[in-house]
Amino acid sequence: MQEKEFWQSCLVSFEKSLPSRQFNSWIKPLSLLKDNERLVLTAPNSFTLKILQERFFSEILNLAKQFYQNVPEFEFRIIEPVPVQETAPAPTIKTKAPEIRHKSENSPRGYGKLNQNLTFDNFVTGKANQLAFAAATQVSESPGVSYNPFFIYGGVGLGKTHLAQAIGNQICLNRPEAKVCYMHAERYVADVVKAYRTNNFEEFKQYYHSLDVLLIDDIQFFSDKSKTQEEFFYAFNTLIDSHKQIIITSDTFPKELKGLESRLISRFGWGLTIEIEPPELEMRVAILLKKACIGGYTLDDAVAFFIAKHVSSNIRELEGALKRVEAYTKFHRKAISLETAREALKDILIAKNRQITIDNIQKTVADFYRIKLVDLLSKKRTRNLTRPRQMAMSLARELTTMSLPDIGNAFGGKDHSTVIHACQNIASLRSTDSGIDADYKILLQTLTG
Ligand code: ADP
Ligand code: MG
Repeated sequence: MQEKEFWQSCLVSFEKSLPSRQFNSWIKPLSLLKDNERLVLTAPNSFTLKILQERFFSEILNLAKQFYQNVPEFEFRIIEPVPVQETAPAPTIKTKAPEIRHKSENSPRGYGKLNQNLTFDNFVTGKANQLAFAAATQVSESPGVSYNPFFIYGGVGLGKTHLAQAIGNQICLNRPEAKVCYMHAERYVADVVKAYRTNNFEEFKQYYHSLDVLLIDDIQFFSDKSKTQEEFFYAFNTLIDSHKQIIITSDTFPKELKGLESRLISRFGWGLTIEIEPPELEMRVAILLKKACIGGYTLDDAVAFFIAKHVSSNIRELEGALKRVEAYTKFHRKAISLETAREALKDILIAKNRQITIDNIQKTVADFYRIKLVDLLSKKRTRNLTRPRQMAMSLARELTTMSLPDIGNAFGGKDHSTVIHACQNIASLRSTDSGIDADYKILLQTLTG
């Protein structure tokens, strides 16, 4: 049982070199077994596994080089701990589950846990979130001290939850004894309701007031819930007074939160309020490349640019688009390429085209035919104007969801029948005049990118 000896020597070495808290948190829960000539390092959860790989594996490998003549291959596995009977038969002697797990996992409520996959490591930064990221890392280094509360706001799918959870995870990593609770605001409201129903505010208060870190996600859900706001007010004061960290996310700036008491809103400004903005193109590309890397495959830069260019609204949709491409190529057994990405995202691309504005169409057509925009929208009926006008109307019909009367209106108050006539005319011209058909296609391509 060479591997047992080897592992024992690793334990001895780490116990010497690491502070005991780190040794207990990250090394003790690990184990080593042999499987088909390979050494398998096991961890009880993905978080511990990640720490193992990033922080300690290189040292384990060094030790292996000293221990084995031929260093076996290593493999990693997550094995949830089950009590195992040791050779001694007494039922009381069971190996314990790893002693240190996050306090957040031990919440008596069974919820309030952090998602351990949302870490700083896999959070891509760029102009849009640099400040928020810098502040977040600082909060995680000195919770309760630097910025309290730490208030993150921004639109949907921009990474608020991810960043907040990353702070929580980092704090647990630095201080395994910290009691960290992540609560979506709706869950907190439900908790208040439950305490109300069971008339058990004591237990409720005891729990929330004893936390080291409280994360409340999407606080806009507290709107018009006065009992919730009252309870949160108490928890807030207690925690802040005892220098415990509060992290809040919201879809808007505190002062714009509707239906929230002003005493809460003013307190939200006590610490640091920071916005996460929509990501620019390069950051979207970086995110796609990172997600692909995490997913274990490589993505061509050109494909990443293509997806990032067409999915610009938020990061959740960006991820969704990448998953679609991945699923599509897997299903059709094709490689990920520009071609397959385009096929996989056909629906999204069409939907995006629908968002093209009529202003944009009119300007593009006027530029293309070198005429003035005012002339395009005027009532003048010279031939050099009617053709481009009809072209623009047809494009508006194809690329926007506007109704015929609305399109007519947008062209200087023309009737809906004029729009119908324009569309029919362009359609028939395209089938007989290749020059017009080419113009139409170029305009279509320009507008849809
Ligand atoms: P929000 O809470 O602002 O609506 P989330 O935090 O839920 O947004 O983010 C949506 C998705 O995008 C999540 O899967 C998250 O992991 C991912 N994400 C957001 N921001 C980033 C980032 N900067 N780097 C990598 N992934 C991100
Ligand atoms: Mg969120």
